[in-house]
Amino acid sequence: MIGSTPFSKTTIAHWLATGTNDSLFQPALNDRCTSCGACLEVCPKGLFERGPGKKIRLDLSRECCECLVCLRQCPHRAIDNVGVGFKDDIKALPDEFRP
Ligand code: SF4
Ligand code: SF4
Repeated sequence: MIGSTPFSKTTIAHWLATGTNDSLFQPALNDRCTSCGACLEVCPKGLFERGPGKKIRLDLSRECCECLVCLRQCPHRAIDNVGVGFKDDIKALPDEFRP
């Protein structure tokens, strides 16, 4: 995995400031999404689901582990990151996978 482990998935600064280990990666679907379902099949935390009309939607009540597999799997670059404060390993993603 290119992202974080469950034990260090945020920056230390984020942890000290908030006292939480919440993900700094917050996925959002853009209009390039075709609802192909590739992200749904690979997300280990189940954030992607099919809603009405079989459209893919996000369940943000689930905890993202910042693995970034969804970014790599999406064939249409339809997943944006609306979070802030990415840790270094997210910044190290190749340009084509950067939010
Ligand atoms: S892999 Fe990309 S295009 Fe396919 S459903 Fe997920 S976000 Fe949409
Ligand atoms: S980064 Fe990983 S856990 Fe988070 S939404 Fe993408 S696939 Fe799921």
